[in-house]
Amino acid sequence: MVIKINDIPPEGLTLELAQKLDLFGKGADSTEFTAMLRITPEGKGIFNIAGRVRSSAILECSRCLTSFPYRIDTELNVDLTPVSSLGNGPEHELVAGELDVEFYRGEQIEPVELIKEQLLISLPMVPLHSPDCKGLCSVCGTDLNKTECGHQRNGPGEFGAFSALKDLLKK
Ligand SMILES: [Zn+2]
Ligand SMILES: [Zn+2]
Repeated sequence: MVIKINDIPPEGLTLELAQKLDLFGKGADSTEFTAMLRITPEGKGIFNIAGRVRSSAILECSRCLTSFPYRIDTELNVDLTPVSSLGNGPEHELVAGELDVEFYRGEQIEPVELIKEQLLISLPMVPLHSPDCKGLCSVCGTDLNKTECGHQRNGPGEFGAFSALKDLLKK
């Protein structure tokens, strides 16, 4: 979905979207989302896009590899600046720290691209289908949430220890 900037009135535009997008670049629009966005012109070709995005993405548990739905409810707040304004002196860097600044090219903007980025940064680094997922047996690969295969494993197993380490690093 593309919005021509000439179609955005001075008082702004409200967008209500309920559709699907290709969140993981797999070639299929398989992730549903809804978004309520407000596009406000701020002069000099800059548009602020702000609002709420909700989605349910299918993730793979990093311990047991089961697919599970993950709910996302996030706020988007981005200033879209024309790429042609780049190199206009130092004022950019002052703006950049405050809120997200993105660039657009030409005469149109694509809100779905912004929504996709916002959803991607909202995903957990280490997805777990359940906080106490037991993971897979490090010896035979059995899903320990379903069966106990009886193998002797050292502690939580290599895989589990690695996940735990990644959990710690995230904080
Ligand atoms: Zn799991
Ligand atoms: Zn086993």
